[in-house]
Formats: sequence, C-alpha cells, structure tokens
Amino acid sequence: MTQFFRRIITSISIWWNRLLGRQPEETIPVVEVSRDPGLRCPECATHIHVTIADLLYVGSVVCPTCHLVLEVDKERSHGAIDALAKLEAAHEQARAVSNGLRA
Ligand SMILES: [Zn+2]
Repeated sequence: MTQFFRRIITSISIWWNRLLGRQPEETIPVVEVSRDPGLRCPECATHIHVTIADLLYVGSVVCPTCHLVLEVDKERSHGAIDALAKLEAAHEQARAVSNGLRA
C-alpha cells in the first residue's frame, strides 16, 4: 500500500511540475489547492474540478471532455500528505485488527 501511494505521488509530482514548469524543489503553498480546486487538462484545456477528496481518496481525475486520466498531485498540499499518511496508518490499524480477529 505504501509503495502504491509513493508511486502515485512520484508520478503526479513529475506530471504537475512538468505542466507548470516548476522545479520540484519549489515549495507550493497549501492554500493553492483550496483557492482554485481544479486542473487544466493538458490535452484539451478543459478546467477539471478537483476536490480534496479526489486528492486523498481517488488519486486521479478524468477530464470530462476528452476523458484523459490525470493523476492528482498530492505533493501540492502537505496537509493532504499528512491526511494520506493518517489514512495509511488507519489502513495498517484496520489490517492489524482484522488479522487479530482472524488469529
Ligand atoms: Zn481533456
């Protein structure tokens, strides 16, 4: 599960940085996600609405016009990463409890 999220985060950050022409080292303000919750489709320029829930739970968005699948950049928000980490922790706990019940 951790590797899955790490792979998504890496690919998303590469895509996003390429799209915006930003350096990976640049600090991206957390507010930017909530101020303009959306992406511009790199294929057809359609504005794609993206919610925090998309960032955290879906991990990708689909362009409503050309159906291009875009992976959402979780690194744009450290808060989102923290939430993601908590989500992972919850997964671990749930798995541990589940294993405990089975044992
Ligand atoms: Zn599109």
